[in-house]
Amino acid sequence: MDKYKAIFITRMTEQLRNLLNNSQVIRNEEVYQLLHTIKGTSGTLDLDLLFQLVSDLMEHVEQRKEDWSQPQLKHFLGGLMDVCEEYEHFHQDLNKIPDYRDIDIPLIQLIDDDISLLIFLKEKLESKGWMVIANSQEDHAIEQFYSMNPDCIIIDINLPKKSGFEVLEAIQKHTKHSFVPKIMCSIDNSRQKRIAAYKMGADDFISKPLDMEEFLIRIERHLERKRIFDQSVIIDELTQVYNRKFLQDSYNRFISEASRTKTSGTIAILDIDHFKKVNDTYGHVMGDKILTVFAQFIKQNIRNTDTLFRYGGEEFVILFQRATESEIMVVLNGLLNRFSEMVLKADGNRFSLTFSAGIYEIKTTDIPLKKALEIADEALYLAKENGRARVESANQMIDAPNKKLLNVSIVEDDSLIRSILMNILKSIEISHLTIAIKEYEDGLQFLESNRLKEEGMHFLILDGIMPVMDGLEVLKKVKETSEEHNAHILMLTGRKSKRDIAEALRLGADDYVTKPFSITELQARITRLIMRIK
Ligand code: GH3
Ligand code: MG
Ligand code: MG
Repeated sequence: MDKYKAIFITRMTEQLRNLLNNSQVIRNEEVYQLLHTIKGTSGTLDLDLLFQLVSDLMEHVEQRKEDWSQPQLKHFLGGLMDVCEEYEHFHQDLNKIPDYRDIDIPLIQLIDDDISLLIFLKEKLESKGWMVIANSQEDHAIEQFYSMNPDCIIIDINLPKKSGFEVLEAIQKHTKHSFVPKIMCSIDNSRQKRIAAYKMGADDFISKPLDMEEFLIRIERHLERKRIFDQSVIIDELTQVYNRKFLQDSYNRFISEASRTKTSGTIAILDIDHFKKVNDTYGHVMGDKILTVFAQFIKQNIRNTDTLFRYGGEEFVILFQRATESEIMVVLNGLLNRFSEMVLKADGNRFSLTFSAGIYEIKTTDIPLKKALEIADEALYLAKENGRARVESANQMIDAPNKKLLNVSIVEDDSLIRSILMNILKSIEISHLTIAIKEYEDGLQFLESNRLKEEGMHFLILDGIMPVMDGLEVLKKVKETSEEHNAHILMLTGRKSKRDIAEALRLGADDYVTKPFSITELQARITRLIMRIK
């Protein structure tokens, strides 16, 4: 259904734009026809807000005898265009939810079939500095829950296909061993509903219509409890290996040990191949069991000076003390061979799995964990690209003589757009370049980081409008201080700011994209720009 909604909205927005832009005088009959079609389809697709809006507009059009001048019609349809663009933008985000997330920012998952409410709540929650994934579709929501590990989940009880209770039940199976606050919402505030919700494991019940102030405070309390809980545990309940909360401490020790013994250590990220298929075929509960088997297998086959962490989902990190990249290459390939020969059993079926890994030998002690993970992750990405069931070394990628390093910096204050950009950039593969990505929340942070002094070529994605220091100012400063041809720049500009676009180009931006943008278009633009960089 979501797919059709997205197609419908895109097509409708285009038709509206055409109608508005094609001639100076627009026949009322034409306006009527288009609105009529939109009303019908939006009703069918349960786009309630749109349906209501178009119905109101049609009443006026039915009464009207005269045709429309372009400005008149623009004014009349302005509200509708805004809603369309909002839906369009929202659906793109909905379909392309980033798999990248910042671990320090709480992530909230919202499940509700009322899109207008979703848009509203998402905005409210994001304004508190939280990240939000919004789902209108039950199955997609469950899938997303597994892959994103939100810190709090808010479920509307009255959903069209499955009830909120069923969604809760599916999620409960997975969270038996961990703590994720689960909040049920309903317009039906009966004692019976509330008791049913608590019985099924809900942590809270909030009745609709929501009192926003109370809603936000309650969510805040839940997130706080979650944070305290998380900090107090360092063992992953499911797989019984360390979790990522213990990674920073261990990494600090790992670095000081390397420094003390004057040896280098190697970090590895392992990701099970096609794990989604296991879930799809045998269910999430079996998926969980297999994760445990995998973790225990690895744990038992590494030295006790090496530490294994469950990094998230089906991804694991290992810190190999006193080990070079070439030694670990051999170790992991050995583990890969043995694991892929292991026969796994589920529902009477026998099958086997493989994993991919990226490794990075840390030769100097000034590399922070975040950076080490990013670099190892790039190698993991390469392993996936090169066909999976293999190990790739980041050191070899970096040392490859025919590859040039391209430093990409994303300077953007909106965390969601940063994630989208990150996803796009991670998916770009260009044979003559090694792409290293970093993100910045504002212009000042970027300039102060001295990023442009880093070795290699630079590609900047600059948001035009940011608090603290906007993109144009950053652009100006960059052009003043760096060599012209060394930094390539893509500006993201607001919809209506022609002046800003002109100014950006005058100041030397290579290209610009206006917001709200289509992800596919942005991907194409970025790829094209990067391909040109020699
Ligand atoms: P590949 O890594 O080879 O690209 O494919 P994949 O199918 O493993 O891809 P991806 O990383 O996109 O998906 C990982 C899936 O792992 C998503 C989710 O269904 C599943 N998953 C993540 N965490 C858990 C978990 O804790 N339990 C279960 N059962 N499944 C999980
Ligand atoms: Mg994965
Ligand atoms: Mg995987």
